[in-house]
Amino acid sequence: CLTQDIRELFPKPSVTYVQNHENLFRNIPLEEALPQPSWTKKFTHYWEPGEKNAHKTLKDFVDKKLKGYKEKRDIPFLDHTSHLSPYLHFGEISPHQILQATRDLEGENSVDLSNFHSELGWREFSASLLYHAPHVINRPFQKKFAELPWEQNSDIVPLWKKGKTGYPIIDAGMRELWETGYMHNRVRMIVASFLTKHCQIHWKTGERHFWDTLVDADLASNVLNWQWVAGCGADAAPYFRIFNPVTQSKKFDKDGSYIRRWVPELKNLSAKQIHTPWILSPIEQETLGCKIGIDYPRPILDLDEGRKRALEAYGNL
Ligand code: FAD
Repeated sequence: CLTQDIRELFPKPSVTYVQNHENLFRNIPLEEALPQPSWTKKFTHYWEPGEKNAHKTLKDFVDKKLKGYKEKRDIPFLDHTSHLSPYLHFGEISPHQILQATRDLEGENSVDLSNFHSELGWREFSASLLYHAPHVINRPFQKKFAELPWEQNSDIVPLWKKGKTGYPIIDAGMRELWETGYMHNRVRMIVASFLTKHCQIHWKTGERHFWDTLVDADLASNVLNWQWVAGCGADAAPYFRIFNPVTQSKKFDKDGSYIRRWVPELKNLSAKQIHTPWILSPIEQETLGCKIGIDYPRPILDLDEGRKRALEAYGNL
């Protein structure tokens, strides 16, 4: 079928139609003319939905990852979290079942489960807030933050979505999201803080993109985490807490393995170079095969300026 001429597949058009439109179809291979498969199709490679798979994922987590969860959950490259979020969202497993399965282990091996259980608690807290304050879907939980002067018509958003900001940890996270429908929690916080604080883009813009792309997109958790990062939610991060993507990158992706996995342009850079590629000398760029501004973008904004502007805007409120 794919080698067939596209014209043969359609009913014979009228003479006028042929005269006017025949050239449109000439030499177009059928596979290019047909709609391309949706980008979500590749998610089937990473996720297997269903109740059976939810319980399999839970068992794998309890057997292999729960023990080191507290120490390793913040390192994106290790991927040491449960990946239960989409199953929880779609009701394929319940938080009670997860609590029970993990408590059994606690008894047997005296594992410290407090961190993992508190994460489940954050999910319940978000759901409860949404129930009692449904206005948070569109408006900040703390009303005064509605007055923040957000940046309008920014060119930044498409670059942030595509993972082309010039800040490697952010680009790695945004590309992981596009490829898998998932992003590690630590990186979600970094990309969200960059967008809302350094770039002063409304949290709703980021929340909508996550809503469209996450396999675990969940109204309550998404909205309230975005508000938490933007400093306007309940129990939110204080407004002066602005994640520096370079410092975070050096701390949580020390040797750059997570960045190399998702940003192959930077694969030849050393652990020291990979967090700040824009300071490479022209000779280093040549040797490493990564020209800044050509192979990998320059940073789209200055972090110090962005931070100063955000502090002023929040401070004025
Ligand atoms: P684990 O670390 O294994 O945690 C176990 C479970 O606890 C998760 O499956 C999840 O249900 C819950 N949980 C963990 N952290 C949080 C949290 N901060 N808030 C609420 N529940 C949490 N989570 C979603 O489920 N849907 C979303 O749409 C969503 N959007 C987010 C947007 C931003 C900006 C941020 C910073 C976080 C968001 N989260 C969201 C929370 C968190 O990132 C994910 O729940 C977590 O990364 C899912 O991976 P996991 O199942 O391996 O988590």
